[in-house]
Formats: sequence, structure tokens, C-alpha cells
Amino acid sequence: MSNNTSPLQPKKQADSRPFAQELKTWVEENRGLTEIFLDAYCVVDILSNVVDFNIAFSDLCGYTYRKVFKVGTFCDLVKLEICPHQCPAKQIVTSQRPIRLDELEGSSRAFPNLRLILAGVPLFTKTGEIMGAMLTLRNVTAEDELQKKYLERKAESITDGLTGLYNKSFTEDSLLRVVKTALRNSNTFALVMMDIDHFKKINDTFGHQTGDYILTKVSEMLRAEVRGSDLVGRVGGEEFMAVLNNTNVAGACIFAERFRERIAKTEFVFEGKTIPVTMSFGTATFNEKWRKGLDPESSMKFMVTKADKALYYAKNTGRNRTCQYESLPKESQ
Ligand code: GH3
Ligand code: MG
Ligand code: MG
Repeated sequence: MSNNTSPLQPKKQADSRPFAQELKTWVEENRGLTEIFLDAYCVVDILSNVVDFNIAFSDLCGYTYRKVFKVGTFCDLVKLEICPHQCPAKQIVTSQRPIRLDELEGSSRAFPNLRLILAGVPLFTKTGEIMGAMLTLRNVTAEDELQKKYLERKAESITDGLTGLYNKSFTEDSLLRVVKTALRNSNTFALVMMDIDHFKKINDTFGHQTGDYILTKVSEMLRAEVRGSDLVGRVGGEEFMAVLNNTNVAGACIFAERFRERIAKTEFVFEGKTIPVTMSFGTATFNEKWRKGLDPESSMKFMVTKADKALYYAKNTGRNRTCQYESLPKESQ
């Protein structure tokens, strides 16, 4: 645009805002530097009016280049949840210090759900008076959404959809980690395998939906039964595994018996019908002797096999009972 003004045209009034000329000079002098900013950038005066910005900033606000100047202050363009009381532009000018805010939420005309990282510095006149602030804004809305989706998918990939317990593969991965720790630190832990008795009959008699209800209820009760540091997963249709840290043979048996009794005593009611439910349990306790000659994977399989044998024995000797691998007759070990 030409600077030549016709003598007939009214003279453009000088900007009366505080330090307007100083700020304009600063912007012009630093144009070469600010042009290379990839993030949104703006300069505000001490009243938070935006006086300079780049395309990334107008894209962020959702206004064309000309409109940005007309909308008003920084707060009107980028509506942060902390504004107006803690408007970053005002904060910088008031405190006369740089600012960095990492998890800002808000909105703009272009982004109804905006997530931002903001950094800003105060700008001073040559005589040391505060004349405004320069702010850069990184729009991390897309990254945040991606991160949220990633975490949701990750949770889904390790969880059983029906019961909300960990699924088989995650439970086994976790068990392997527990085995490795036990081998390294010589601590013990117990494995409890549990299976609902005659579950097929429950499905056949009361329907699949009732079966699903029982699975969900039992899972809820199981989750409530274990300590926070323990692990429970659904490892088969009606089969569950608990990994009890720092638990010996007696402790595993106490846990299993307590839960067995609780299940047997609970009245499961679905659509007005009472469903009798019992469960069988097999326990095995990690043995220090296995350290010799066994790698973690083999130790883990060895232990699962032992707990399975105990469970199988409990099924074959009447169900609704707990059997410890360590107490099985020799021919059943
Ligand atoms: P046992 O006492 O010997 O364990 O007998 P069981 O009937 O419980 O064992 P079986 O392995 O014969 O039957 C398991 C049943 O579990 C068969 C299958 O239809 C049912 N099942 C597996 N997954 C689900 C599920 O997600 N929902 C429902 N409702 N049933 C399931
Ligand atoms: Mg069963
Ligand atoms: Mg089963």
C-alpha cells in the first residue's frame, strides 16, 4: 500500500493507544524474526489489543487477516477457560515476566475444543517501560485427541469387553512380569485359577443373557476381593485367574476359600429368577526351587499347569471346593 496521501483526503489520525508507535517500530524491526515462527504468534499492547500476528494465528482464531484487528482483544479471539481473570496477555503485562502455560483449554471460532501450549514474553520500550507482550501459541488439539484415542484403544486392547477385567493375553503378560520379579528378588506369589461350576447348565437353563450377568457379577466381586497390588483377569469363558503378590500356600487357600464361600452364599437374581452359582478353585504357589534351570516363560507355564491341575482335581472331587497343588495326591500332580 502507498504511503502517499492526497492533500484532499483527511489525514489518518495517529494511533492514540499507549506506546502504539513504539510497538509498531518493534514489530517492524523484528519482522524478519517473527516471520519464521511455525506456531501461531501475536503481539498485544498493554490493553491486550492484538497489533500484529501471523497466518497461523488467524487460522487458529478462525478470522481473516483483516477481521482479526476488528474483533477486539486477545481474549475475544482466543477464548481460554482461564480468561478473562487470568488472561495470559494481561498476566505478562502486569507481572512483566515471561509466561509458559502447558495445558490450556478453550475455544475459538475455528476450534470449538481448543488445546494449547502458550508461551509469552513482555516487550519494553527503549526506556524500559512495558509496552506489550509477544505470545506464541501451539495448537495441540489434534495431538491431544490422538493421545486420548490411543489411550482408549490401549485400555480396550487389554480389557475384556464383557467383564472389564484384564483379558487373557494381558493377564499372561503380567504374570510373566511377576514371575521375572519373583525369580530376581526371591519373593513368592500365588496363582489362583477359578472356574464357575456347570456354567453350561446355567446358560442352558436360564439363557445366555443370564450367563453374561453372572460373569459380570462374579467379576465385580472378584475385583473387590483382591488387593490393589494383585491382578485378576478373565482367561476363558467362565474361567478367571488371580495373581496374589507376596502370598504363600496358606494365604492362597484362605483367599480362595473366602471367595468360594462368598459366591456360594450370594443370591444371584436376574429378571426375577434366582440362579444358584458355585465355583471351583485351584491354587499353586511360586517355589524358589524352580529358579534352578528354568527360564521365566517355562516357570510361568509350569505354574499355570500346576494351578490348572489343582482346579481339575477340585472339579473331579465334587466342585464348589478349593484344592492346593501342593496337597494333591502324587498321582494327580
Ligand atoms: P464345569 O463345572 O466342569 O466347569 O462345567 P461348565 O459347564 O462350567 O464347563 P464347560 O466348559 O462345559 O462350559 C462352559 C460354558 O461357558 C460353555 C460356554 O457356552 C459358556 N460361555 C463361555 N463364554 C461365555 C460368555 O461370554 N457368556 C456366556 N453366557 N456363556 C459363556
Ligand atoms: Mg465351568
Ligand atoms: Mg471352564
